[in-house]
Amino acid sequence: MKCSDFLKELSDYLDNNMDATTKAELEEHLQWCHNCYVVCNTTKSTIEIYRGSELYELPDELRGRLQKAIVSKCECHKRETQSPETPDPKPEK
Ligand SMILES: [Zn+2]
Repeated sequence: MKCSDFLKELSDYLDNNMDATTKAELEEHLQWCHNCYVVCNTTKSTIEIYRGSELYELPDELRGRLQKAIVSKCECHKRETQSPETPDPKPEK
């Protein structure tokens, strides 16, 4: 499962609105993908806040922003592993 697939299923996962197979796949993804793990937790607590204020649905706009953030993070991470970027501000000596 890719991060984009995970994100597509995330809201159903949090609503517990899916079959056991898909759920197992998502949980497996969470075990190795820290980015999605963070997004999952963030989204979960966001939903809880909204539920607290009687707004059940996560606004599309917010969901879109979360998804964009995680996808760019994952892509960024891939790039980093290919060509490691060493933040090395040359000391002026
Ligand atoms: Zn992921």
